[in-house]
Amino acid sequence: MKYISTRGESKELGFEEALLRGLAPDGGLYVPSEWPSIDFTKLKSQFYWESAAEILQPFFGDFLDKKELNILTKKAYKSFNTENMTPLIQLDDNKYLLELFHGPTLAFKDFAMLLLAELFDLSLKKRNKNITIIGATSGDTGSAAIEAFKNSKNVNVFIFFPKDRVSEIQKKQMTTTGGDRVFPIEINGTFDDCQNIVKALFNDSSFNNEVSLGAINSINWGRIAAQIVYYFTSFKLLENGPISYSVPTGNFGDILAGWVAKKIGLPINNLLIATNENDILARTLKSGIYSIDKAKATMSPSMDIQISSNFERLLFEAYGRDSSKIKSLMSSLKDNNEFTIDDYALDFIKKDFHAKSISEEDTTSCISDVYKKTGYVLDPHTAVGYAASNSLPSEGSIITLGTAHPAKFPTAVKKSLGTVPEMPDRLKKAMNGDERFSEMNIDLEKIKDFIRSSIV
Ligand SMILES: *Cc1c(COP(=O)(O)O)cnc(C)c1O
Repeated sequence: MKYISTRGESKELGFEEALLRGLAPDGGLYVPSEWPSIDFTKLKSQFYWESAAEILQPFFGDFLDKKELNILTKKAYKSFNTENMTPLIQLDDNKYLLELFHGPTLAFKDFAMLLLAELFDLSLKKRNKNITIIGATSGDTGSAAIEAFKNSKNVNVFIFFPKDRVSEIQKKQMTTTGGDRVFPIEINGTFDDCQNIVKALFNDSSFNNEVSLGAINSINWGRIAAQIVYYFTSFKLLENGPISYSVPTGNFGDILAGWVAKKIGLPINNLLIATNENDILARTLKSGIYSIDKAKATMSPSMDIQISSNFERLLFEAYGRDSSKIKSLMSSLKDNNEFTIDDYALDFIKKDFHAKSISEEDTTSCISDVYKKTGYVLDPHTAVGYAASNSLPSEGSIITLGTAHPAKFPTAVKKSLGTVPEMPDRLKKAMNGDERFSEMNIDLEKIKDFIRSSIV
């Protein structure tokens, strides 16, 4: 499989190159040059990791053969502590919850990050090369990355997180792993400052060459691909009439994976973009205008995002893969903070997607209603998805993706239920571990020196 950029001005690459690069040099995102097709009725795998190898084969095939891929996925997912990695729980007549939080950091980001770490490891060993991964986080991405890469000998990981803006649990998950090559850095600033540091380091080409930077945020195609798998496996578990998915959405990565699953052969009915009060995507589907607002802080912080980077990949398809259109939309976004989607492209999007924004109040009442009815405790992100699922047409089953374990967000749960959820052992261990992290100001030169001198 070859990969091309959504902006059409970068050279076509194989999977391994696209993986290591992350973002295309023209600023666009990598997508497969053509879509494979998978007959889901023929999938026979028993374990999740086997399904992963089967479904990802056409995407990774120029890098790994089937046997190598099986070894890789088995290794990647060995740290899940349940045999059934993705339990499907029925909460109402036609409503199901797909629990994606049984990995080491208790959020769905483990699925993609663990696989990415193995892919990077394999490629770097083969090339006898080391890289320096840098990333900004508001919580879940950082802990998943640190956990996944902590044993990779060819990778040093530097994660920037904003002082006082990540929860105590999220911070402990990043700072207590004990890995020698992972460096959590508390920045005296906001999440945006952290993200700006990452961008500035990437744009500094002499520094980039010196330490070989790598990207692990969800613009990396490898992460999207990994997330296609659980749509297939959960769909196969039900298979009783039409099935729709409600997906708590921020950067549009997880739900884009659902669209790809549909595109390559899974007959998904509707895909519901569930957002918190940061409702840019819900507004866009209604008006056709993608217009950036200020990001609000909500009780589902991993979705407090205004620029949904992966939406560009869907726009590329909606415009019939016309990269000149994408270039002009993105330059309008840069200059005017907004763009308008043409009717035909908006119709394309609305054929597969619905969108619903859920207020803070409705998130709280969803957590308490579901608890009263079923005894099940939802985390605030999953609650946004579950609450939104009421807005879908009622035919068929609806699977809401359960993106995080409720114990990661005790404050929001306490607000809704009056009590905090029980902490899984893995989290208790992180809470009691010794913390190791650095504190830094927004000073690029000092940060570069720190990275240079820390690399092992
Ligand atoms: C990252 C995250 C999301 C949003 O996922 P996207 O792929 O960015 O849309 C939702 N819930 C939780 C718990 C997350 O960590």
